[in-house]
Amino acid sequence: MKQVAILGSTGSIGVNALDVISKMPGELSVYGLAAHSNADLLFKQAKKFKPSSVSLFDPDAAGKFSGRLNGSCRYLPSGVEGLVQMASEPEVDIVLTSLVGGVGFAPLLAAIRAGKTIALANKEPMVMAGAQFMKEAERWQAKIIPVDSEPSAIFQCVQNERERRGGKEPFSKIIRRVFLTASGGAFYRRKGSLSRVSVEEALHHPTWKMGKKITLDCATLMNKGFESIEIMNLFGLNYSQIEILIHHQSIIHSAVEFSDGSVLAQMSLPDMRLPIEYAMTYPKRGMRVIKPLNLAEIGSLTFDKPDFRRFPCLSLAAEAAKKGGGLEAVLNAADEIAVDAFTRGKIKFTDIPRLIEKTMKKFKARNSLPSLAEVVEIDQWARQKAEEMLGGL
Ligand code: MG
Repeated sequence: MKQVAILGSTGSIGVNALDVISKMPGELSVYGLAAHSNADLLFKQAKKFKPSSVSLFDPDAAGKFSGRLNGSCRYLPSGVEGLVQMASEPEVDIVLTSLVGGVGFAPLLAAIRAGKTIALANKEPMVMAGAQFMKEAERWQAKIIPVDSEPSAIFQCVQNERERRGGKEPFSKIIRRVFLTASGGAFYRRKGSLSRVSVEEALHHPTWKMGKKITLDCATLMNKGFESIEIMNLFGLNYSQIEILIHHQSIIHSAVEFSDGSVLAQMSLPDMRLPIEYAMTYPKRGMRVIKPLNLAEIGSLTFDKPDFRRFPCLSLAAEAAKKGGGLEAVLNAADEIAVDAFTRGKIKFTDIPRLIEKTMKKFKARNSLPSLAEVVEIDQWARQKAEEMLGGL
């Protein structure tokens, strides 16, 4: 029986993960549940899954929550400290990181240094310092299995080939090219200017039901930019090996081309429970928890080249990926500030890439790969710079 700690249990990934776990009682059990501030849902989850430890990030919510559960459940501290503690508990086998944004940086590092299997859904730390995290994972013998549907698809496509070659060969030697698919988000098919779109419109994703931050990142296509960096880092690829394709149906979650030109794709209906289950049952495949794919009903699958001019976040991500030297952390930090400001009605939708670009321009990229401590400093610097420039857009 594998013991799972879920960092971010009340978000969309966390809720789906608990649904998967509830269907596999003999194989997976919940060791810890950490949530941001939704105490009522955490309470319900804890009643049902009886974790050994819980944590609420928000100190006010944590204060009110303490003592609500009877039995032997431990209350870990609020804030990052509780997440770090939960990620490194000796009894935990799998840490599912489904936090939102750069806040997941320290908990991911803690899980890696504790040698855990990490079901990685929180992509931002892998954008900020993915190459550094992969080095740490090798050093501490931690396994990182992606949960995000696109890197999960790539992982699933290359796994057999890699195992056949002894399981040690770097992915970059096995993969010739990756087709990274994108639904296109809320506005891809919309005509005309995007400067006046509302938060409600931007939150209307055509195929996936997800949290606010990622849905907004989908609308700007920054989510795809982030995924391209995440994939480059996870699989040790060159940025030029990644080709982004708009695929509105979200049936092919990504595909891999091998040396002989053969392409393998991973398909399913868009349902996050599949990649979550795969990450938690890997190297085995679990049971079917999602609806079966009916290709005849879907009829056709379409692919287009993305429009980098209309969605400048794609170009900004490509620039950060190619230059490196900490620029990826600046990209991520400025995006978090910009998306938050848009959500609060402070800036227009089209100001999101403008603020990110301005912040990136102020940064002097390092000549070599920054250390994890340096990345934390760069992150703080970029957040401050982006905040300062909000008023002057
Ligand atoms: Mg994704």
